[in-house]
Amino acid sequence: MAMKTACMSSQASDDEQRKRENIRSLTMSGHVGFESLPDQLVNRSIQQGFFFNILCVGETGIGKSTLIDTLFNTNFQDHESSHFYPHVRLKAQTYELQESNVRLKLTVVSTVGFGDQINKEESYQPIVDYIDAQFEAYLQEELKIKRSLFNYHDSRIHVNIIPVIAKADAISKTELQKFKIKLMSELVSNGIQIYQFPTDDDTIAKINAAMNGHLPFAVVGSMDEVKVGNKMVKARQYPWGVVQVENENHCDFVKLREMLICTNMEDLREQTHTRHYELYRRCKLEEMGFTDMGPESKPL
Ligand code: GDP
Repeated sequence: MAMKTACMSSQASDDEQRKRENIRSLTMSGHVGFESLPDQLVNRSIQQGFFFNILCVGETGIGKSTLIDTLFNTNFQDHESSHFYPHVRLKAQTYELQESNVRLKLTVVSTVGFGDQINKEESYQPIVDYIDAQFEAYLQEELKIKRSLFNYHDSRIHVNIIPVIAKADAISKTELQKFKIKLMSELVSNGIQIYQFPTDDDTIAKINAAMNGHLPFAVVGSMDEVKVGNKMVKARQYPWGVVQVENENHCDFVKLREMLICTNMEDLREQTHTRHYELYRRCKLEEMGFTDMGPESKPL
């Protein structure tokens, strides 16, 4: 019922817009072929490949590299980092991955030295600076007269805030529920806006709405394979039993992977461009003295 109302109201607003723009809706008397436009779009995008950039923030040793390896089922061979860095810095590495005929240029940016200093007040600053520096680089390319955004290595961070509890196998079931509630309420009380899986597309609205209610995801990472029944599965083996990474009764790893990679990767990429970068660009251009108003405050 709710869906029907939403569809009807969007139809009504389409009609209104057409009326405003003086566009007439006509019925064609035969096939001409522009229905293949979406296929053309898909083919071109596949040829170009996709950029996807993840920033993974967390203490040294919390399980960041293991989680990224497990998410992409790839051994990225990241080196173990020490706990003795005086400052937080960011380390970016780009990899080319291919699944079927889709090429993905994946950049993983991880924090180094996060949480290792006694005074952690400034730990967030290099992270914010890094995000802004990528926006700035894109803006500078965009502002060039001869710009080449077509083959530009887009390094803007796509993965907005998705809270994750790492090493979820180290916490009991009841403690985990309490911890999840505490974490979410701390995020809210500190005014931190996390990424909400979008619910405006009917095909994924239901699953995304359910997943929003599961945040933060409690995950376990491991590239080790353990025999369970007659199958080899990714797991962590303990003297008392086996924690299976992809078993939804054991942890939320599958939920995170589905949401991040299968369902919302394009939304993350799009929101980075249309929301976050747009805001950065607007503020920067206004700072530089540009305006959309002409003389006598008339829009240009
Ligand atoms: P990073 O410094 O945050 O990149 O952490 P690593 O991925 O290098 O992991 C540090 C240690 O934690 C390694 O010994 C991992 O095997 C272990 N580890 C990683 N993920 C998990 C997990 O989900 N559960 C447990 N118990 N240990 C983990």
